[in-house]
Amino acid sequence: MKIGFIGLGNMGAPMARNLAREGHFVFGHDTATLTVDGVANTRSAIEAATGMDVVITMLPNGDILRSVAAQVIPVMRKGAVLLDCSTVDVESARAVATDAEAAGLLPLDAPVSGGVGGAEAGTLTFMVGGSEQGYQTALPLFDIMGRKSVHCGASGNGQAAKICNNMILGVTMIATCEAFALADKLGLDRQAMFDVVSTSSGYSWSMNAYCPAPGIGPQSPADNEYKPGFAADLMLKDLRLSQQAAEASDADTPLGQAALELYRRFVEDEDGKGRDFSAMLPRFEKRGRS
Ligand code: NAD
Repeated sequence: MKIGFIGLGNMGAPMARNLAREGHFVFGHDTATLTVDGVANTRSAIEAATGMDVVITMLPNGDILRSVAAQVIPVMRKGAVLLDCSTVDVESARAVATDAEAAGLLPLDAPVSGGVGGAEAGTLTFMVGGSEQGYQTALPLFDIMGRKSVHCGASGNGQAAKICNNMILGVTMIATCEAFALADKLGLDRQAMFDVVSTSSGYSWSMNAYCPAPGIGPQSPADNEYKPGFAADLMLKDLRLSQQAAEASDADTPLGQAALELYRRFVEDEDGKGRDFSAMLPRFEKRGRS
């Protein structure tokens, strides 16, 4: 396929490289003029999008997505797929999809989980919103860039799935960290705590697969001085998107709101910026009730 790829940052560059490696013709564009092995540079988003079968965007936020979409939608050929893999607000995803559909395109919102490591290894998971026809067209590309894709329904549903999942993740990571800090104060050994919880009803991905306590459970960023991994800043972004969506849809999400406030303080007022999101554990360790 002929693929335009707009946004060649930490995630976009390895994703574009993997597509080129599999023999697709990839035309890249980034405002920071980044070059990627096997990817032809273009001078503008318009040039990267004109005449392509698929245009992929991997951008920082919904406002930037809207402005890039406004440039590329008019020049894309009818029937082409506009595939946004960024994490953005549901409203922006749906607004871009409406404009793209009106122009005869097949829009998909397909945010990912798996991080930079997953992008490099081609093992991302895609959560996809949009038409079945669009999904089937993009499926061979999901299979190159990722290991799994789930078609979640209409436009915006990929973003909805992503922020709901990450709201659960933020809440369970906080719950796991505060429970470890309480266990410490009660004199309970961390290994014993892990052995019980990981096989009892308190188990979760945060405890079992990504344990925030160094030296306990499988290898995780806790064993590497809390270098990300999944940065607390990105968790904060996703929690903000979840609360924006909850506000817009009148959903009651008290724990999501509390998780947002804790990560906001951690990243903006404390030492959480640039650390893994599981570094909430040393934060709780240092604190008392006040
Ligand atoms: P990044 O900042 O490294 O990359 C974004 C790129 O977009 C930058 O290179 C920037 O120069 C480029 N850009 C900005 N405005 C542009 C424009 N108008 N036209 C063309 N290019 C433009 O960010 P990233 O880590 O690659 O993340 C990209 C998206 O993926 C974000 O939405 C993020 O939330 C999501 N995401 C990131 C991770 C992760 O672990 N990094 C994991 C899952 C999802």
